[in-house]
Amino acid sequence: MKTVNSINFLNKRAVIRVDFNVPLNDAFEITDSTRIKAAIPTLKKILKDGGSIVLMSHLGRPKEGPTSKYSLKHIVAEVSKQLGTAVLFTNDCMSDEAFLKSSSLKNGEVLLLENLRFYKEEEKGDEAFAQKLSKHGNVYVNDAFGTAHRSHASTAVIAKFFTPENKCFGFVMAGEVESINKVLTQSQKPFTAIIGGAKVSDKILIIEQLLGKANNIIIGGGMAFTFVKAMGGQIGKSLCEEDRLDTAKKLIENAKQKGVNIYIPTDAMIADNFANNATTKECNITQIPEGWMGLDIGSATIKQFGEVIKNSKTILWNGPMGVFEMSSFEKGTKQVAFDIVEATKNGAFSLIGGGDSVAAINKYNLAEQVSYVSTGGGALLEYIEQGSLPGVKAIEE
Ligand code: AMP
Repeated sequence: MKTVNSINFLNKRAVIRVDFNVPLNDAFEITDSTRIKAAIPTLKKILKDGGSIVLMSHLGRPKEGPTSKYSLKHIVAEVSKQLGTAVLFTNDCMSDEAFLKSSSLKNGEVLLLENLRFYKEEEKGDEAFAQKLSKHGNVYVNDAFGTAHRSHASTAVIAKFFTPENKCFGFVMAGEVESINKVLTQSQKPFTAIIGGAKVSDKILIIEQLLGKANNIIIGGGMAFTFVKAMGGQIGKSLCEEDRLDTAKKLIENAKQKGVNIYIPTDAMIADNFANNATTKECNITQIPEGWMGLDIGSATIKQFGEVIKNSKTILWNGPMGVFEMSSFEKGTKQVAFDIVEATKNGAFSLIGGGDSVAAINKYNLAEQVSYVSTGGGALLEYIEQGSLPGVKAIEE
């Protein structure tokens, strides 16, 4: 894979798509700078070589063109602090002044462009806009995995204006792509995919893709109840997508045909209402009484899932096993997280991806004890569904 390590940046100006879409509070202070910190190794490598850097990113979803609220000026000081060097700023991306600033950069200097999404051309993937953006540098680096599933001007289209030897991945992108490939194309068997979360409809394509790759598919979370009902179980007022019952049934049949083991919970922690202080009890998942809902997997299921996970050599986890945000219903999700850690200690490769499973692994402070925690929820899921991403293809082509 072509990364910044394959290029010597001495006397080169790298135009880098980063993901600095960080959360800001009402006073425009950054509340979580993880994304800025993640990009620093890529930037340091380029500066160490003796190159200069033009950074481009989006921030939020500005709809009306330039808006102070979404200006990247709010993050300049933090980027500078994390990088340990001054960062210049230009309050647009396309003016003569912006190009004068980028073309005047000396080796070792860094310039941050204003929010790309102040231009409607960015999200439209406009070619002329992308071509003009490309003039900010002579090497293109994509290190924004979180937006790699978009065919935007700065994430994909721009790459065609650079020759193959002048475009590459940054370390964030490279790490993500390598870890996904370890799971999707080079997985050591048994490979277990753990899929949870609220809705079956969000995960159908992923489960279909995984049927061709995984040995075991564990289904948990709210979506499990659609599977249980599809197989004839009584699920009370648990989450259910009535219009997906057939799909769920077909997925189970397809799995059987392909020799993939599908694990659906056998018992559940049920509650009389959706609240942490609700009355709770455990029951067989096919016999949930009327008026009760399943909000977590039960103890027998936790044990069974744990055995499968601990016997795996490759693990992909997306989506919680229950309403883990409430302490009464976090047991299943928490135990799955600890089982993945144990499997990882025993040599398995574990990839955690998708918003809520990442939130869960962080809640239990286990991020350092799994193999890889993906930074791009939507991008990771789309990578699994499609087998690649526009932002990845654009560099590889
Ligand atoms: P997703 O974004 O699809 O991964 O779904 C994550 C959300 O699903 C979390 O906020 C969980 O609280 C919720 N969830 C998980 N299990 C259940 C359940 N049994 N009933 C209702 N919501 C659930």
